[in-house]
Amino acid sequence: MTRTDRTRYIFVTGGVVSSLGKGIAAASLGVLLRARGLRVTLQKLDPYINVDPGTLSPLQHGEVFVTEDGAETDLDLGHYERFIQANLSQENNTTSGRIYRTVIESERRGDYLGRTVQVVPHITDEIKRSVSVLAEGHDVVISEVGGTVGDIESLPFLEGIRQFRQEVGSRAMHVHLTLVPYIRAAGELKTKPTQHSVRELMQTGIQPAVLICRTEHPLDEEIREKIAGFTNVDPAGVIEARDVETIYEVPLEFRRQRLDDFVLRRFGIDVPTPDLAEWRRIVERIKSPRRGTVRIAVVGKYTALVDAYKSVEQALIHGGIANDVNVEIDWIGGEKLEQGLDPAFLVGYHGLLVPGGFGIRGIEGMITAIRWARENGLPFLGICLGLQCAVIEFARHVAGLEGAHSFEFDRDSPHPVICLMDEQRNVTTKGGTMRLGSYEARLVPGSLASRIYGSTGITERHRHRYEVNNDYRAALQGRGIRFSATTTDGKLVEMIELADHPWFVASQSHPEFKSRPTAAHPLFASFIEAGAIRAAGPVAPETAALAAGG
Ligand code: GLN
Repeated sequence: MTRTDRTRYIFVTGGVVSSLGKGIAAASLGVLLRARGLRVTLQKLDPYINVDPGTLSPLQHGEVFVTEDGAETDLDLGHYERFIQANLSQENNTTSGRIYRTVIESERRGDYLGRTVQVVPHITDEIKRSVSVLAEGHDVVISEVGGTVGDIESLPFLEGIRQFRQEVGSRAMHVHLTLVPYIRAAGELKTKPTQHSVRELMQTGIQPAVLICRTEHPLDEEIREKIAGFTNVDPAGVIEARDVETIYEVPLEFRRQRLDDFVLRRFGIDVPTPDLAEWRRIVERIKSPRRGTVRIAVVGKYTALVDAYKSVEQALIHGGIANDVNVEIDWIGGEKLEQGLDPAFLVGYHGLLVPGGFGIRGIEGMITAIRWARENGLPFLGICLGLQCAVIEFARHVAGLEGAHSFEFDRDSPHPVICLMDEQRNVTTKGGTMRLGSYEARLVPGSLASRIYGSTGITERHRHRYEVNNDYRAALQGRGIRFSATTTDGKLVEMIELADHPWFVASQSHPEFKSRPTAAHPLFASFIEAGAIRAAGPVAPETAALAAGG
């Protein structure tokens, strides 16, 4: 196995229940170690059988996060990138499906000729290899195992990370995230679920060095000692993870409890204390913005689960940080507007965002909302499907192309203004076959887009099959739409905008994936700024009448 002999490994597991914020906990530890000058990377090991989450509905495990190299990954990779401010890749996310596929492909090639292929050692070896590949160039690799301890599916991963620690000794450590519930009737914090969860983990042969305890109330010394006593964990390794106002506060909370000192002492690493001034500034801005509130309506498809648009949500918050405003987001299902919700409800907002999505549900509602934003000067940001809906709306209501639609939704439309890319026509399989990852685009000089980016050459991440139909470009352009960015060869439309509108911009790519709390994506920063201007500015008379119910 090709491991560097100095890299340290931290394995993060979770117990009791899911959704405790394991990804944020892992990422927050990453922030602290990075702030101490260490080269840190993070990885997610997902126990499900899908080769990647690309074929999953975002209502299952949340959004599909796309990396620069076009990997379709778990949403935790979005947290990792935003927290440690690094671009990750396919190597940073693997699944049972991907591990098994690799092993089975080897078997078919004859690599194991004569031998029985088994979970131990073949699957566990491949799991360990997928961790080891990240060692190169990193001082610390933090690998998070998805799911909770006790799931049948995660057993091979637990066995793999147990062996890993056995092989590298004190250069590896296990961190376990648990829940310490507060029972109101008794007025007490209960440690029993944590005891059970650690016992379950120990049955797989893993002794955690650190316990991160999610709780609504502070863990006092007595509780810490009690948990430590039952689990063989040093009391200094029992960390309280109380609910905080913003996720960006978690690294500061961990630092307050010296989690990084504890981990580094165990690893025998001596490095300077961290400088977290930048994080303090972010948290301060989110908690006490000085310039009021900007209200954003997101009209989309998967609005029932906020995790489905995690990066959009975070990018909007980053836009708020950049403008020193509070951003309030309401998630509205597109179908609500089809079922009678009057689009004039948008009068209560300072911006409309229509995010990405697949399938026809809610499309007409999104189009109705975009029409209202276009006609009423409401700042509009369209992302991927949002761009496509904006083009359909404009084609139908401005360019007079009745029945205009996307080929994705209406194969018989007389005006398929959104159509299938040439290279997509013969694609028959679903996994990983879209236009994925980072591509260059050229911006039209003088366009709003080029002013926002401050450049005419950009790269953004993509995840789509359909495109603006070039046969309609001239007709649409003649009516006032501006194709403000294309691919470098000019063949595919990348961005659109409207000249006679305060702020109407849409992108075929997903800028939300590149936004960071420390550096809001320019499109989101500018969108929120436009929203702040709308919030501060005088309300147009017709809008005021609508607001008054006229
Ligand atoms: N469904 C559209 C396409 O495939 C949009 C995809 C998206 O919004 N990510 O082109």
